[in-house]
Amino acid sequence: MAFLNKQSDGKVMVDKVFKAAIKAREAKVKFGDENVVDATLGTLFDEHGTFVAFDSVWGPYETIDKIQKAKYAGGIQGNPTFRKAVYEWLFGEFDEEIQCEILATPGGAGAISSTMKNILNPGETVIKPSQGWGPYKTMATEFGLTLTSYNMFKDNKFDVENFKDTLSSVMKQQKKVLVILNDPCHNPTGYTMSENEWDQVIAFVNELSAQGPVILLNDIAYVDFNNKGPAWKKHFLKYKNLEPNVMAVIAFSTSKTMTAYGARVGAAIAITSNKEELQKFINAGIYSARSIWSTVNNSAMELFTLVTTTPALRETYMKEKQQYVDLLKERAAIFVPECKQVGLDIYPFTEGFFVTIRVEDPSQKEALNIKLQNNNIFTVEVDGGLRIAICSVPKRKLKGLAKRIKDIM
Ligand code: PLP
Repeated sequence: MAFLNKQSDGKVMVDKVFKAAIKAREAKVKFGDENVVDATLGTLFDEHGTFVAFDSVWGPYETIDKIQKAKYAGGIQGNPTFRKAVYEWLFGEFDEEIQCEILATPGGAGAISSTMKNILNPGETVIKPSQGWGPYKTMATEFGLTLTSYNMFKDNKFDVENFKDTLSSVMKQQKKVLVILNDPCHNPTGYTMSENEWDQVIAFVNELSAQGPVILLNDIAYVDFNNKGPAWKKHFLKYKNLEPNVMAVIAFSTSKTMTAYGARVGAAIAITSNKEELQKFINAGIYSARSIWSTVNNSAMELFTLVTTTPALRETYMKEKQQYVDLLKERAAIFVPECKQVGLDIYPFTEGFFVTIRVEDPSQKEALNIKLQNNNIFTVEVDGGLRIAICSVPKRKLKGLAKRIKDIM
């Protein structure tokens, strides 16, 4: 006899990142911190190995009144001031207005999972990138969805043709498409799509929407660590050119943007010219919110609003964040060319928190990961490779790392 229902009986969460991080922590205790390369965690660490919590964010947090910290949010959809601040953060750089609805969510994860839940029926298929964030799979399973992937790369570029074929085939079967694009600074490869690749994607989904609705879920968890800075956000203007049968849902997160991972605040921003469907999507999102997480963290919404809308605080924050964008660039400038020099095959990298070594055969990947662990190098197994989180490895440990890995291989 089982206590659980059929859908939940046997569910066990195995998080590869946390599992690998525990092994790395044990090795540090045994062999000493300096002798271990812990490239497992997707959070920022400085050159001294200290977890980064921006002073420009967590300083102002202390000025927030205790009642604001204790209170419930001002509404299930999220505080109006927070939603306005999110709009300004993403779209404030340009003059054109973007017609959208915003739902505050517990992190980017809340935005992605509630979109999956409300767009597809159980048994239907969600499309994800061939290399992708692990929880996409967990979320799909949670809602009884199946998954299929588009191949991300061909000749070191985004594989537009495979993207089109994959979407066409799903559209043929279910007359609706939900596809995830994690851009810019893709986790786990660090790839950022070019303007031209995006233009091809937009043109194609517009064309495909003649056969059924297309929902494009743009996961921008790392957007504020791209090298172009706020200028990248001009990208969002492309969503003004969507056909009425296409909706873009941007999954925004303050986790990386504010180094506020544990504060659990993000947003789903839906954009479509189809006003009726937009209203239905936000209504369903608010309903899901109330029934699953209720409301999000009030003090973290207040904090994001305070830091991003107070000019002096915003300026200090932008400066502090830029130091880490630069640090990531410096780390990548050590590791990526060294990979090329020693012939260590990595996926196309542009920027961001991660670089991934290409190991397509799953058994080879596992074997290599174990060998690396035996040499005190800790990575995370991801689809098609081993992820090196350069966000958490100091420059001195990245020097020579590519050669060490190649030799171990
Ligand atoms: N999407 C990607 C690709 C991520 O790597 C993460 C966090 O690691 C998220 C979304 C969402 O994170 P959170 O729910 O903490 O905002």
